[in-house]
Amino acid sequence: MSETLLRIEKLSAGYGPVPVLFDVDLTVGRGEIVALVGSNGAGKTTLLRAVSRVIKAEGTLEFDGADLLPLPPEAAFMRGLVQVPEGRQLFGKMTVEENLRMGAFRRKDKSGLNESFERVYELFPRLKERRRQLAGNMSGGEQQMCAMGRALMAAPKLLLIDEMSLGLAPVVVDQLLEVLTDIRSQGVTVLLVEQDVFAAFSVADRGYVMETGRVVGEGSIAELQNDPAVREAYLGA
Ligand code: ATP
Repeated sequence: MSETLLRIEKLSAGYGPVPVLFDVDLTVGRGEIVALVGSNGAGKTTLLRAVSRVIKAEGTLEFDGADLLPLPPEAAFMRGLVQVPEGRQLFGKMTVEENLRMGAFRRKDKSGLNESFERVYELFPRLKERRRQLAGNMSGGEQQMCAMGRALMAAPKLLLIDEMSLGLAPVVVDQLLEVLTDIRSQGVTVLLVEQDVFAAFSVADRGYVMETGRVVGEGSIAELQNDPAVREAYLGA
């Protein structure tokens, strides 16, 4: 594996007194696309929230060589760890371009903004066509593009993408998966949380399987595809 960008060790987290994650170990190497799969309620979203410091966690959480847990929560984002949230969470009454600009809100190098806009519009020509349209009036696929574009405007090193394919037609999902490989070739690492295991495995290098707050399987995509338990639970074999 390449140099480790994200290292999670023995991470526990929950909501108030309710524990959800138990001793989670997971790493993402620089330049990888890593899939995190598991059934409803397995704790995938909770893990992303813990990593992006929206909820408290205990254990080890290192990103790009820095130990994040002792740092203020915004340190994760400021160092390039950016989440594309489940449900997109766009500003529906703002235009596409305004939403994209919001992604760069906390960015220090404002001089790089034009280049980032260009790159996002190159990856998603549809967003360029619709840049003056209100985000709330766009299709689900376009909104997902806008959410991903907004995250890219923050100049991320690691994108955490939660349920990218949710509610989208297969043809749109395929387009987004292709963009993910383009994003990776531009030097952005991706941790992809997906219920659509086929989709996630089609682009990822490695994967993790979570159940009830624990990692129960991990390996290369080929290894996971050949694992009888994974095949039965997630690949319908
Ligand atoms: P899904 O794909 O359905 O979102 P998931 O694997 O992402 O599933 P989580 O959303 O992380 O799972 O949920 C893990 C557990 O945490 C579930 O038991 C859920 O009920 C609980 N949970 C999630 N959000 C909260 C919250 N805000 N407050 C309390 N419990 C929560």
